[in-house]
Amino acid sequence: MRIAVLSDIHSNLVALDAVLAHIGTVDAVWHLGDVVGYGPEPDAVVERLAGIGAVGVRGNHDAAAAGGPEIEYFNPEARRAMEWTRARIAPVTRDWLAALPERLIVDDASLVHGSLVDPTWEYVTSAPIAKASLDVMTTPVGLHGHTHVPMAWIKAGGRVRGAPAGTDDRLSYDARPTLLNPGSVGQPRDGDPKASYMILDTDERVVTWQRVAYDIEAVIAAMVTVDLPVRLAERLRHGL
Ligand code: ZN
Repeated sequence: MRIAVLSDIHSNLVALDAVLAHIGTVDAVWHLGDVVGYGPEPDAVVERLAGIGAVGVRGNHDAAAAGGPEIEYFNPEARRAMEWTRARIAPVTRDWLAALPERLIVDDASLVHGSLVDPTWEYVTSAPIAKASLDVMTTPVGLHGHTHVPMAWIKAGGRVRGAPAGTDDRLSYDARPTLLNPGSVGQPRDGDPKASYMILDTDERVVTWQRVAYDIEAVIAAMVTVDLPVRLAERLRHGL
């Protein structure tokens, strides 16, 4: 099977549509949460994912948008954007977000937003944190987002090493337990402003990372028009 893995779309419909156009034919689309938050089009992004039958998990922003207490832990700008999101999303969007599971096992893959230890909040940003997840993982491969940075964490000989992933990077995840992060569709934070995602070939057990240009200025203009925080809009330009 050829599967597109998307994460951290963050209400950025322009980026999502650019990615979906780039993907071509796939057998499934999986998402790793933070479908909403920050960006200007939460309803349209959820409608698009629901329309293509994407399956996935809940991120901290999705939980907060559905009414959860997670909003208490947001920084002031993220909180303002989340209050904006909560006030505007349609009931059907809220219901779709509320129904997302915290973790999901599909085929040979564990899907979470943060980590396998703490699926909502933990950022996998170091080898010891990645190792804790790999140690409890029950599938050959784990898929996670949350950091907005495309990466692989590979366990071999009891040790874990991290490998940043760029455009067209390919990795065989056949023999070793591996965590894979597709990066962020809607708000990349690795210094490259292009939308990031990955393609899993589950027959060959190979992952490929991809980057896609989209109309960033249109999204910034849309965010400013609806009075979302300017800093959240302008960071899209820099991918940070
Ligand atoms: Zn996120």
